[in-house]
Amino acid sequence: MIEVEGLHKLYGDFPAVQGLSFRVGAGEVLGLIGPNGAGKTTTIRSIAGIIIPSGGQIRIAGHDLAKDPVGAKTELAFIPDEPHLFEYLTVEEHLRFVGRLYGVTGISARIPGLLEEMDLGDKRGALPGELSRGMKQKLAIACGLLHEPKALLLDEPLTGLDPVGIRRMKSTIMRRAAGGTAVILSSHLLHLVEEICTRLLVLQHGRVVAFGTMAEIIASRPGLRTRSLEDVFLALIGQEEATDA
Ligand code: ATP
Repeated sequence: MIEVEGLHKLYGDFPAVQGLSFRVGAGEVLGLIGPNGAGKTTTIRSIAGIIIPSGGQIRIAGHDLAKDPVGAKTELAFIPDEPHLFEYLTVEEHLRFVGRLYGVTGISARIPGLLEEMDLGDKRGALPGELSRGMKQKLAIACGLLHEPKALLLDEPLTGLDPVGIRRMKSTIMRRAAGGTAVILSSHLLHLVEEICTRLLVLQHGRVVAFGTMAEIIASRPGLRTRSLEDVFLALIGQEEATDA
């Protein structure tokens, strides 16, 4: 469970996120969408404990992020759009290192399955410099999943993945959610968001424009077309041509 109450973030005088409140329950996949600069990355990084909010409360699986940062961070995984890897550790060494950091038991038994899931089985001994961009992203995702987090935060996770990788990643995310993980996925790939997210949070100028299931959002706005999330998104952020006249 991820709980966010009254989240504010100021960069100097600039309000990047303003009074954001929402919950993501176990098994839910929340799609965080919005135009460039809407505050998506600021929100996700605040929940991950990387950015210190200017106000508000964040709880991860019941742990208050400000009061118990280690307890909260132990329960979450954050996958950024740019993978940060250790230049001198192989794929397998990354997993062992991250596993030790999180106190994961039985790492040896879990590595083959995870590498297989990420299609990295034949890259076990490779260094990051020997991996393609998409493979690096897959390794970062594997590292994030190793400790079976209760909260999974994904910021544009599919950047650089090939179509097979994207397909696999969709099923990976859905499988984790089915296993009880609360997921937040930020992406501009609206067809992906529409396919796998159970609820949507649309941000603009750091504020919530809409929150709920597609059906709830459409029902709350008379005049919205119902064809696709793209239509709904464009209408919500003020692209009038996307609404019914
Ligand atoms: P994108 O879709 O382009 O990734 P985003 O929704 O993730 O955008 P953020 O990166 O959260 O948006 O940025 C929100 C706002 O905060 C933007 O106006 C941005 O210029 C501003 N901002 C982000 N980081 C900083 C910073 N370190 N210092 C000052 N302003 C910042």
